[in-house]
Amino acid sequence: MPHHPSESPADVVARLRATFATGRTKPLAWRREQLEALRRLLTERGDELAAALHADLGKGAKEAYRTEIDFTVREIDHTLQHLAQWLRPQPVPVPERLSPASAYTVQDPLGVVLVIAPWNYPVQLLLAPVVGALAAGNCVVAKPSELAPATSRAVAGLLPRYLDRDAVAVVEGAVPETTDLLAQRFDHIFYTGNGQVGRIVMRAAAENLTPVTLELGGKSPVFVDRGTDLGTVAARLAAAKFMNAGQTCVAPDYVLTDPQTARELEKALAEVLRDLYGQDPAESPDYGRIVNERHFDRLSGLLDSGRTVTGGTRDRARRYIAPTVLAEVAPDSPVMGEEIFGPILPLVEVADLDEAIAFIRDRDKPLALYAFTESQTTRDRLTRETSSGGLAFGLPVAHLTVSDLPFGGVGESGMGSYHGRYSLDTFSHRKAVLDKPLG
Ligand code: NAD
Repeated sequence: MPHHPSESPADVVARLRATFATGRTKPLAWRREQLEALRRLLTERGDELAAALHADLGKGAKEAYRTEIDFTVREIDHTLQHLAQWLRPQPVPVPERLSPASAYTVQDPLGVVLVIAPWNYPVQLLLAPVVGALAAGNCVVAKPSELAPATSRAVAGLLPRYLDRDAVAVVEGAVPETTDLLAQRFDHIFYTGNGQVGRIVMRAAAENLTPVTLELGGKSPVFVDRGTDLGTVAARLAAAKFMNAGQTCVAPDYVLTDPQTARELEKALAEVLRDLYGQDPAESPDYGRIVNERHFDRLSGLLDSGRTVTGGTRDRARRYIAPTVLAEVAPDSPVMGEEIFGPILPLVEVADLDEAIAFIRDRDKPLALYAFTESQTTRDRLTRETSSGGLAFGLPVAHLTVSDLPFGGVGESGMGSYHGRYSLDTFSHRKAVLDKPLG
């Protein structure tokens, strides 16, 4: 329920711009108040949000709290704890020929910013950027994904009841509404989603010289070295891959490993999947559903890309695809031609680390690169010889829960980053100040 139903996007932006012009959003006290209110929303209305996430994605309540609601609460707590310190002017040395003088930087809010979110983590990926925008003292227009309609409706209903309505607005809608929004002038646009739409966003932003953050996706590889404990590898890999039915931007997309390790890993994965979701994952309360029929049909077309180790079954009426592991997958098979974004894990065989590195470097820069290895040399080589948004050894996906690490992509996986103080940097201008006494 939008709070001003008849308002056009231009009206919304004008109203928020008028609020920003009063200076109300600049004091630390206002920022803290908004963050505390958002925290209250998440704790008091967590169950409503979890129910919406279940309706949209079949997300279990535990997972909804862990990966969306509590995740965002932790991001707020970290920000509340450090914001005053992050906002302190940063002094820098002044060259001799200018002294006496002082020089420092201050963080200026940008104004009115736009956050456009996708459907896969529709609470976290809308509200974590909003946390940064508010912490930096901006007004914000939040555009949830129409493909998670229950969550979109819940957020649109709740945000105006907790936050400053003249500083934060939710605009719901699909392509036409987003296109109208993008025709407005914003001071920053923060977009999470796919690269095609990322290009549309950046083109629209260019009209107004509006800076953008693009949080995109791609295929995130996993290298599994010889001689690693495959029970541990399989458990951590499966938990990261099949959470949210594989619809996670940093989900391990495919595995690169030598043929012998591949044979052993496939057995370990089949075992771990039985532990995680039981004999019939369709009956597990912890296993999610594919967001819509379009994605279900797309994923169905990828199931024949290799030898099925486990899974491979599906049910269109329930948008269910079993957790699936495919072995002996050829690099040119359909499943390797696009970001999977679903519960299918291909094992691709390479001779050794050199071949794995060449394979990774031959393709778009991934959002995340993962490796399981006991070798420091291998870790060093992967760090030095590959480029990716993030790099994690021994545990996929969890790097984005470290609030002091920047989260973002490079190349085709995006530009800019956020979380913690990186969100503050993204949503402010670091203003240079020189102060030379007159006397
Ligand atoms: P989506 O379809 O929900 O689209 C994202 C947003 O773009 C929505 O709000 C939608 O309304 C808007 N949109 C769609 N078409 C548009 C158009 N023509 N003009 C303007 N706006 C438009 O989500 P999606 O793109 O399917 O999301 C999945 C992709 O996002 C995957 O590639 C995934 O890897 C990536 N992703 C990245 C991150 C990250 O943090 N880097 C997180 C989640 C998802």
